[in-house]
Amino acid sequence: MVTMTNLEEKFAEAMKTIARRADLKTYVEQTPAIYQLLQRAAAKYVTGEKRQDGLEAGRQLADKGYAISLEYIGENTTDVQACEAAVLELSLLIHALAERGIPARVSFDLSHIGLSLDSDLAFKNLTALAALARQAGIELFVSMEESAKTDAILTIYKRAAAAYENIGITLQAQLNRTALDLTSLQPIPGRVRIVKGAYQEPEQLAMPRSSALNEKYVQLVEQAIHLGHRVSIATHDESIVDEIIKRGWIHEPGAEFELLYGIRPDLSSQLKKAGYPVRIYVTYGHEWYLYLCHRIAEYPPNLFQAIVDITGAGKADPMLDYE
Ligand code: FAD
Repeated sequence: MVTMTNLEEKFAEAMKTIARRADLKTYVEQTPAIYQLLQRAAAKYVTGEKRQDGLEAGRQLADKGYAISLEYIGENTTDVQACEAAVLELSLLIHALAERGIPARVSFDLSHIGLSLDSDLAFKNLTALAALARQAGIELFVSMEESAKTDAILTIYKRAAAAYENIGITLQAQLNRTALDLTSLQPIPGRVRIVKGAYQEPEQLAMPRSSALNEKYVQLVEQAIHLGHRVSIATHDESIVDEIIKRGWIHEPGAEFELLYGIRPDLSSQLKKAGYPVRIYVTYGHEWYLYLCHRIAEYPPNLFQAIVDITGAGKADPMLDYE
């Protein structure tokens, strides 16, 4: 018999597979009617397609007392021109943040800036952005992608972070290798963000969502703190949040909670009101297809929300839910 939990797991797997289907993505992008409908659903999690949309949302959240991360969404750039365009956009974002005095961190995938083409290109682009960001007093953050890229991402990160202390790295608790990866980062002072992991991974490499994964997540936070890293606890899982507060780790130097824009704004508001440092991860850009699929996969009831947003007259405005 298929139980609800079982069905939800299968649904999550299916959504993650849909997320990776380049043909479906192209179909959506090239069919204006469908693109516009799905864009309404994406508006729950993505502030808009333009830099100005991300900056405006960042400014509003900063005014409400949140710290900010900003991501210009995109990944797996497969030609040099698109890669240069992404680097230019990230440079302009860094300039704009500095100019407007918005205290934000800039996050991105290395495959957006060259990893899918050539490791050296990704390294060159990462260090160029890090130099620019350092001048502007801004921290950069490297996201973590599928396990097939973990080695390459960590190698580039370690090389770059040895020279630029303003770059942090994301690690996925779901991967069996992560405790060892964290140990290997010991000489590097950069900030570490712990996430559960958004990608569908082979069984032999990763753990599924479970209480065992939550325990492992908490252990990784402890390990990162012991190794002297400033840690971003990037989750919407209240049981983990409660455990981190109970153990007092949120008071460690540089520790913070970090949540995605549009997801559990009630939890973000509650944590901020209680006086804990809370950062909101804000995204913008036109590459929102994969991002939307992941957000639905993580929490299947979001599909109901997506249908309400698609058929509803007004645009979803998650900003109103942040207190
Ligand atoms: P889950 O077990 O997925 O969810 C726990 C509970 O949180 C759910 O029961 C639900 O109540 C709530 N929740 C979770 N997701 C949603 C949602 N979409 N909508 C509504 N409620 C939800 N992943 C990567 O692989 N690489 C990265 O670089 C990366 N960067 C991230 C950066 C930040 C700041 C954050 C917050 C996440 C990032 N992720 C990244 C995504 C992450 O790996 C998870 O997929 C995502 O955070 C959901 O996991 P969770 O810890 O909230 O726990």
